[in-house]
Amino acid sequence: MSKRWRWQWVAFGAAVGALYVVERLRPLRARKEPGPARVGRNLVIGLLAGATTAASEWPLVAPAQRLAERQKLGLIRRLPLPRTLRMLLGFLLLDYTLYVWHRLNHGLRFLWRFHAVHHIDLDLDSTTGLRFHFGELALAAGFRAAQVLLLGVDRDTLRVWQQVLVISVIFHHSNLELPIDFERRLVPFLVTPRMHGIHHSRRTEDLDSNYSSLLSWWDRLHRSLRLNVPQASVTIGIPGFWRPDDVTLAASLTLPFRHDPRLQPLRTPESQPLEVVSLTERRTS
Ligand SMILES: [Zn+2]
Repeated sequence: MSKRWRWQWVAFGAAVGALYVVERLRPLRARKEPGPARVGRNLVIGLLAGATTAASEWPLVAPAQRLAERQKLGLIRRLPLPRTLRMLLGFLLLDYTLYVWHRLNHGLRFLWRFHAVHHIDLDLDSTTGLRFHFGELALAAGFRAAQVLLLGVDRDTLRVWQQVLVISVIFHHSNLELPIDFERRLVPFLVTPRMHGIHHSRRTEDLDSNYSSLLSWWDRLHRSLRLNVPQASVTIGIPGFWRPDDVTLAASLTLPFRHDPRLQPLRTPESQPLEVVSLTERRTS
């Protein structure tokens, strides 16, 4: 590992550690499983996920990047644009196609089996941002290779987007109560903790909203933005997975490979209105 990478990891670890402390000092939602067992479980699932992403890079994403560069593949490489604009467009398209991937993870039964492991967490905090099943991240690496080949993003753009994305994912999963006015100013551009908290709600119409991962524009574009839900009314998780016994480490890791009638992919009636208003918060502080 180069010196620069080492420092980046140290800075990332310090930022996550600081957020972990601050979200406990200013919690947004009351916790159901406050003990260390949940955090330990999420860290183990996160370590497996990180190892899978690193292991998938070499046989999947890196060869796709080399092939795309050698053969000049992908949409952006064909556009007569200056490099800065190409990078900007690449960044936006990577983020938009991740929105599409997230929707597929909810809508397709096979993908939902893996993504549900992330959603059955009974609480939502920065450690949930690490809690992705290793199978989901192996599949995501395949999708990433497709993004590289079809979009034609260069490796610098991909690296910058991935770094910003990781920070965004940890941030918007956090249980940090930001001042509501500040969050209202942030949410037209970025996914925030209250916005993503609604996506982790047990109500189907909430779960079927707020799919963006970095820029919040994609939900606005597709009318899947839902902000008028107070956090006090949000119950985190998936129906049927109510108790800590439902979400143990073994239960979580084996979930995609078991037949479980509780795992139904999302079906929201098409007519379901998705109201777009500024963030609502009934609690007074
Ligand atoms: Zn989701």
